[in-house]
Amino acid sequence: MEKVVIIGSGCAGWTAALYTARANLRPLVLTGKQPGGLLTTTTIVENYPGFPEGVDGYELMTRFQKQAERFGARARFGEVQNVDLKEDPFLLTVDGETVQAETIIIASGAGHRHLGLESEHKLENKGVTYCATCDGALPLFRNQPLVVVGGGDSACEEAMYLTRFGSVVHLVHRRDTLRASKIMAERALSHQKIKPVWDSAVTEILDVGQDKVTGVRVKNLKTDTETVLPCAGVFVAIGHIPNTQIFRGMIDMDEAGYIIPKRGTATNVPGVFVAGDCADRVYRQAVTAAGLGCAAAIDAERYLAARNE
Ligand SMILES: Cc1cc2nc3c(=O)[nH]c(=O)nc-3n(C[C@H](O)[C@H](O)[C@H](O)COP(=O)(O)OP(=O)(O)OC[C@H]3O[C@@H](n4cnc5c(N)ncnc54)[C@H](O)[C@@H]3O)c2cc1C
Repeated sequence: MEKVVIIGSGCAGWTAALYTARANLRPLVLTGKQPGGLLTTTTIVENYPGFPEGVDGYELMTRFQKQAERFGARARFGEVQNVDLKEDPFLLTVDGETVQAETIIIASGAGHRHLGLESEHKLENKGVTYCATCDGALPLFRNQPLVVVGGGDSACEEAMYLTRFGSVVHLVHRRDTLRASKIMAERALSHQKIKPVWDSAVTEILDVGQDKVTGVRVKNLKTDTETVLPCAGVFVAIGHIPNTQIFRGMIDMDEAGYIIPKRGTATNVPGVFVAGDCADRVYRQAVTAAGLGCAAAIDAERYLAARNE
């Protein structure tokens, strides 16, 4: 039986592994389909403390893993399909096999919604991004026209943030009013650099041929007319999907699927803790995920100490 099983191998998972490993708990990290998590999909991370020149996302996550393994953490490539949290120990089904665990740290992250365009996929990290805080300050976007797609609070926040860098920020939204809270919508729409593009959807990101973003093709959904908006960057802000489906009905979560911790990182099930983007609809940063991984590890360690007293 495992003392600590960590579901997910991103910033939260490997930080939880580092702390529980240093507490001699020999954690088992289940990597999921994306070993190293979301950060491995980006080339340069400029806002992780300790790397003044920036660091490649894949390299950073390899370092996270090595550091935790040095103290006895173990990685197992595999995805959890099922959990039974009524049993003691908990039972997890990992690629058809059962793993028993005294405690579980859920660090399964959150994916972002895509527009679903082939050109979006091909130009990801070449001007198409899903995080203004992460990428907005890159030289590529400075003093250039930018496009934000979406109409909720996140889209407004991304657009506001990008006004510091872009020459103009086009906010493309499917409707003629924003879904964002009144205060966010007012703030965004009154900013002189933010230009709303109402009733419109992006149908193509240009230019795959040049291997970089030069503009977007936008269709007005009321008139069916198409226009091209020149831009150097497209920030897709149409929502996130927490990877928490397997816990539905067992672990408390909000309507979007973000896990709601009770106290610290504890969930409604004693012995199950949560860390990182799967419980964070606000910050979603590498350093906050790592911080929560640390907190979950400390909570799990204290839980085990009290249980085995
Ligand atoms: C392109 C891009 C660039 C980014 N750039 C930056 C940046 O510059 N700075 C910054 O601070 N943040 C950046 N971020 C955000 C950052 O990557 C996330 O905030 C961070 O990775 C969250 O860490 P996490 O551990 O919570 O989740 P994730 O990194 O998403 O990891 C989730 C883990 O859970 C695993 N998993 C999921 N389901 C299961 C399952 N059923 N069983 C087992 N494992 C499972 C996955 O395989 C993965 O290993 C960027 C994100 C993207 C997409």
